[in-house]
Amino acid sequence: MSTPQLITVLGATGSVGLSTLDVIARHPARYQVFALTGYTRLAELLALCVRHTPQFAVVPTTAAARQLQDDLRVAGLDTRVLVGEGGLCEVSAHPLVDTVLAAIVGAAGLRPTLAAVEAGKKVLLANKEALVMSGALFMQAVRRSGTVLLPLDSEHNAIFQCLPRDYESGLEKVGVRRILLTASGGPFRQTPLAELEHVSPDQACAHPNWSMGRKISVDSASMMNKGLELIEACWLFDTTPARIEVVIHPQSVIHSMVDYVDGSVLAQLGNPDMRTPIAHALAWPERIDSGVAPLDLFSIARLDFEAPDEVRFPCLRLARQAAEAGDSAPAVLNAANEVAVAAFLDKRIRYPEIASMIDEVLNLEPVVAVSELETVFEIDARARTLAEQWLDRNGR
Ligand code: NDP
Ligand code: MG
Repeated sequence: MSTPQLITVLGATGSVGLSTLDVIARHPARYQVFALTGYTRLAELLALCVRHTPQFAVVPTTAAARQLQDDLRVAGLDTRVLVGEGGLCEVSAHPLVDTVLAAIVGAAGLRPTLAAVEAGKKVLLANKEALVMSGALFMQAVRRSGTVLLPLDSEHNAIFQCLPRDYESGLEKVGVRRILLTASGGPFRQTPLAELEHVSPDQACAHPNWSMGRKISVDSASMMNKGLELIEACWLFDTTPARIEVVIHPQSVIHSMVDYVDGSVLAQLGNPDMRTPIAHALAWPERIDSGVAPLDLFSIARLDFEAPDEVRFPCLRLARQAAEAGDSAPAVLNAANEVAVAAFLDKRIRYPEIASMIDEVLNLEPVVAVSELETVFEIDARARTLAEQWLDRNGR
């Protein structure tokens, strides 16, 4: 039997990280954990190290590293603890690593994910913000290194499964008319508009179908998540926003579709559980058990579809505008959204103000060409400053 693949899980303590470790643990002969990273949930990281015995763990500070290293020693483990972004990049690009699972949330994931790409690792991408911020540079790096980049985001994984193997020659060449990106519509799909002023972070995080981290849960409620996914899809499948239609499908059973010129529409269905796209991407082009229950179509009984309402979901409109503007606009959108969502979760702004803040920052920050990664970080920092200034003026 061949030796197990060594895997680095960036963001191991999060929702996607934990689902990944669940799938990996089902296939010990195929996969072994090389490194695990955490940020605030360090007791959980210790428990994961005990369970998966990685060679490395990464934490944000020297003090946290000292503590974890002591705890690991007491637990009888020789896992080495590394610190900060340097540590994250080291375990992403380490010569022994085969596959890197990018599941840090937000802009913080960009450098370590790019380090994996540049080192030619197989990269399984959940961290959509990294691609939204730096799409052109990120995809150039993918092509330069020849790495295999597979989407974990359930919609993009579904689209990938519905495309032919040679789709990289161009979607038009393989007969694709449109991509149909499905969205659940989140917890506020039917909430009276006047009540949105008063919804709480916990209500926003109570997704009807998926269990996820808090940032992406708020993004799903506002449909900014779908906007980020629209941009993500443009980069992953080398297409334009005009070729992507967002379809609200409240049951979250169809994870996205591809519409071909002959009238065929291919869809990927499954229970809403991230272990399916994770298992698909881990084993691709093979198939392995993910632990997800078989789909019971009789209990689902019906599949509904609606067009998204841009009055209810202004973030979707803002994201489409940023996608169409291109260049630096998606990075500005992403940065403003990260600040806005954190402020909403901290109860400093009301839910509708998420869109107001992003709209203003997009209007203030000019669209510029981006040819270097440092420019992306400068734009990100400027947009965050503008968003903070908006908060100082309007927040609580
Ligand atoms: P979580 O909030 O559950 O997990 C985020 C992970 O990132 C945690 O391990 C967290 O560490 C770590 N982290 C947070 N901030 C930093 C930082 N500054 N530096 C280093 N590590 C950090 O999020 P999810 O798992 O839900 O989402 C992760 C990514 O996957 C996001 O980009 C999201 O959009 C994407 N995604 C998620 C899906 C889902 O079903 N959850 C579906 C599709 C995409 P700690 O917990 O220790 O603080
Ligand atoms: Mg998704």
